Amino acid sequence: MSHFSYRNGVLHAEQTSLSALAEQYATPLYVYSKQALVENFSAYADACRAHERGAAADAALVCYSVKSNSNLAVLNILAQLGSGFDIVSGGELLRVIAAGGDPRKVIFSGVGKGRDEMRLALSHDILCFNVESIPELHRLNAIAGETGQRARVSLRVNPNVDAKTHPYISTGLKENKFGVAYEDAMDCYRTAAALPNIDVVGIDCHIGSQLLDDAPLLEALDKVIDLVDLLAQEDIVLHHLDIGGGIGIIYDDEVPVAVGDYLKRLFGRINAWREAKYQGKGIKVLFEPGRSIVGNAGVLLTEVQYLKHGAEKNFAVVDAAMNDLMRPALYEAYHGVQQVEQHRDSAARTYDVVGPVCESGDWLARNRTLALQEGDLLAVMSAGAYGMTMASNYNTRPRAAEVMVDGDKAHLVRQRESAAQLFALESIISRG
Ligand SMILES: *Cc1c(COP(=O)(O)O)cnc(C)c1O
Repeated sequence: MSHFSYRNGVLHAEQTSLSALAEQYATPLYVYSKQALVENFSAYADACRAHERGAAADAALVCYSVKSNSNLAVLNILAQLGSGFDIVSGGELLRVIAAGGDPRKVIFSGVGKGRDEMRLALSHDILCFNVESIPELHRLNAIAGETGQRARVSLRVNPNVDAKTHPYISTGLKENKFGVAYEDAMDCYRTAAALPNIDVVGIDCHIGSQLLDDAPLLEALDKVIDLVDLLAQEDIVLHHLDIGGGIGIIYDDEVPVAVGDYLKRLFGRINAWREAKYQGKGIKVLFEPGRSIVGNAGVLLTEVQYLKHGAEKNFAVVDAAMNDLMRPALYEAYHGVQQVEQHRDSAARTYDVVGPVCESGDWLARNRTLALQEGDLLAVMSAGAYGMTMASNYNTRPRAAEVMVDGDKAHLVRQRESAAQLFALESIISRG
């Protein structure tokens, strides 16, 4: 169920009017629905709980992918629901801790972890490093040695399955930079197991994002399971298996697999495998979802500044831009655009919705039929994931404010930046 719907002709987030929010906090403005966030997380948590009744307690952990939306309020709500976190930088670890998240439920992904980031993560005793290469393994071993610790490690294997998604968000093919090749995985595990300051605890993969079908994920699972069995034969017994994130959401007319259905199939296979083959203790299952938890829980509110009606095209110039929501410019991504107030008298025309940034790539939506007047409010839909986290200050544009709606209450969870803050860290060189 969508938590963004019309009431008396005005688009609301839960019971809160988006017109009222724009009035109070100005635009561009990100608005999130707490209830949507809770429900999307619960789709994972409930399936995991059902699975745990059949397996061991504590047999699954959802590690929300922080990079999809890292606002402290979002992280805090998920932490209260028991979420773990998948991070890709030291900065994200500090965010998780600031938001009240448990660092021992944190897994650290990414191909380029720095030394300081490794030290920081070790000092907080995170659950696991998802290691993506042999050189990274050696660096981590050395740093853990310096600090007198053992680093818990999972290897990210690249199962070479086609996620059938946009090339920029497909990560599980041989040609991608992520993970170690499937064929090399056994050797990498042998290397890792022999290192003195490394504890091999898991295996992970993440094959891509915005997957509509779970077949590629189940195919990846089968390949990962094969490796777990082969490793067990060499006495490398893993404690967890992490299948990554990647379930897609509705932006336009997509029909993504329901999270509950996917997890039912996935746990079905895992249970069948356990009974048939796997000799080890109950293996824990980890997930790294981002978009499917937060994507449809947020919209970007923007105000129409000017209408330009031309011979070839009509443009609606709005006050949000590619620096606020980069996905259209970066991936030619589609976002729905809804008028916050319905029933306007003006005639409907076909518009490109564009921002003020000096780039032709600065558009948010193309060829949309809208009946617009200057000053109208638009909601760019499904903007909760990879929206604010990808925002920049290009054109010295302060980033948007963020509001979390809970029923009929709105909480400002990030203030709008001021222009002065944007250059506060800069200085001019003094004349010698
Ligand atoms: C981005 C990312 C995710 C989250 O992907 P979604 O498509 O948002 O679910 C999970 N794991 C890793 C390693 C990632 O890089």
